[in-house]
Amino acid sequence: MKNLLDKNLTRRNFLQASAKFLLGCSVLNFAPKIASAEVENKIPLPKFKTLDEMKINKVNLRFAKMNLREYTGALVIHHSGLSIDKESTVAGIHEMHIVKNHWAGIGYHFVIHKDGSVETARPLEYRGAHSLNNNDFTVGICLTGNYDLVKPPTPQLTSAIQLIGALCEKYKFQPNDATIFGHRELCKTSCPGENLFPLLPEMIQGTQKILHLI
Ligand SMILES: [Zn+2]
Repeated sequence: MKNLLDKNLTRRNFLQASAKFLLGCSVLNFAPKIASAEVENKIPLPKFKTLDEMKINKVNLRFAKMNLREYTGALVIHHSGLSIDKESTVAGIHEMHIVKNHWAGIGYHFVIHKDGSVETARPLEYRGAHSLNNNDFTVGICLTGNYDLVKPPTPQLTSAIQLIGALCEKYKFQPNDATIFGHRELCKTSCPGENLFPLLPEMIQGTQKILHLI
């Protein structure tokens, strides 16, 4: 347990150092997300389910050539962050990332909608395109909406906790502030928004609870 924690902290420092020194990224938020052992829980907790047990709608998309991701040690939480708060479809984000960004396809691995429904995006085994310099070892999860403008709906947060739990179980790492990042902690961006980022400690703690770690 201690070793795992040390390893995670080392990885966090590594992620931050990588993000800080490589071009295009600066680390904006060094403050630990969990200041004390306990945060107030308001988000209803889901039952733990494995990734296979979860209801995840599979969206079939065509991608250009991508590389496999060799290691997965952290998750990065995003919002879709369009100029107005609205739902985005996986196909719509896919199209935007191809046309505007010239990527192989949608950069995130999962998209969670405001009603809590979860959809696949980029195939999980492939390297994402969602967090500059951190894509080799992270999975990207996008909550649709602009959470600089409005607050994320509860069903979306509950589903995010369930998905984070399932991914932690799959990749055998514990959810904590060394493994679950808001995009802004790694890159110069407001993502996942002023109203979603502060909820990460509660989401991490909720995930620890459904995994019976606390
Ligand atoms: Zn982002």
